Amino acid sequence: MINILILPGDGIGPEIMKQSVKIIKTCICFGYNINLIYNYIGGISIDKKNNPLTDDVLNICLTSDAILLGCVGGYKWNKSFNKPEEGLLKLRKKLNLFANIRPIKCPFKNIDFLIVRELNGGIYYGKPKGFSKQIINNIPTWYSYDTEIYNEQEIIRIVKLSFNLSINRKKKITSIDKSNVLYSSKLWRKIVNYISNFYKNIKINHLFIDYATIELIKNYNNFDVIVTSNIFGDIISDQCSLLTGSLGMLPSISINNKSICLFEPCHGSAPDIAGKNISNPIGMLLSLVMMFEYLLKNKKLSNKLFYSIYKVLSFGFCTVDMINYFNNTKLVSTNEFGDLVNYYFTYD
Ligand code: NAD
Repeated sequence: MINILILPGDGIGPEIMKQSVKIIKTCICFGYNINLIYNYIGGISIDKKNNPLTDDVLNICLTSDAILLGCVGGYKWNKSFNKPEEGLLKLRKKLNLFANIRPIKCPFKNIDFLIVRELNGGIYYGKPKGFSKQIINNIPTWYSYDTEIYNEQEIIRIVKLSFNLSINRKKKITSIDKSNVLYSSKLWRKIVNYISNFYKNIKINHLFIDYATIELIKNYNNFDVIVTSNIFGDIISDQCSLLTGSLGMLPSISINNKSICLFEPCHGSAPDIAGKNISNPIGMLLSLVMMFEYLLKNKKLSNKLFYSIYKVLSFGFCTVDMINYFNNTKLVSTNEFGDLVNYYFTYD
């Protein structure tokens, strides 16, 4: 029996999750022994339990085989003391999910590279951080601060993982940093160069984050595995989603040193379109493709779902965010897109 914890979260989370659950239910009909457990994270958990991630849910995470997560956040909690995003940061930290792998893949455009984003360190967790007040020019003035901090061990584990991923790909790594300015990036680059000595057959290239944003659009085919820090990885993956068509297209897997994995799309809760049945469920569905491959180790099933998604797209069906991406597109809702994918997944 495989226990999958389903955390739809907030905003468009529940409506995109529903599409992945349709596919899992089809798998259960095919005879796969999968048990779905539902619970809360983010804003919905604040509303129900006054906590964006309760210890009870954390314990269920620890005993599940995998977690499938929608997204968290929304305007509703802008002024609340607890923040939905803290639930996600806590989940990543408590499960020691140090690496977030984001495939940027589009068969229509022959795009295929990976962003390996460090997920447990850097400025999102670094201390001190906060707000304070001091007198500047005789005026009491608020200021705020965050700390970008990485230790050697955190950098070594993410860089080693990236080199290992590269072995089975094009043997080419790009490390993205800002080592011309930031001390954390100077250490990052030094360690990448050191580790590259143990992988003589892998070509290593360094880019500064500012120029990398240009190269990623102009020469995306030059990339294969990209390794970068928490904040840079967060930003460039949103940028790269446009290469594939929409922010709604990107899946991800987050891993630790044990076997628990978190599968989630790269986008946020899209509160501007939540509840309208117009969101793109592809990032969520592709996260399930990754779950079939990495958790079930079932390449046949993951390929079947991947090709069902792209078959629906190749017929021109898409949600509104991709309407100008192809010629002769046919607009469908989130639910209709999910039904079409499930149809081809079931009968094709
Ligand atoms: P966002 O990713 O939610 O949305 C940015 C834009 O992309 C919006 O116009 C949105 O409508 C669109 N979009 C995103 N996903 C889409 C999809 N699947 N289909 C169609 N359109 C889609 O980013 P944001 O607006 O900066 O943040 C909104 C909330 O989400 C914030 O509270 C933020 O903190 C949170 N957030 C959560 C996660 C996460 O859960 N992993 C990640 C990023 C942001």
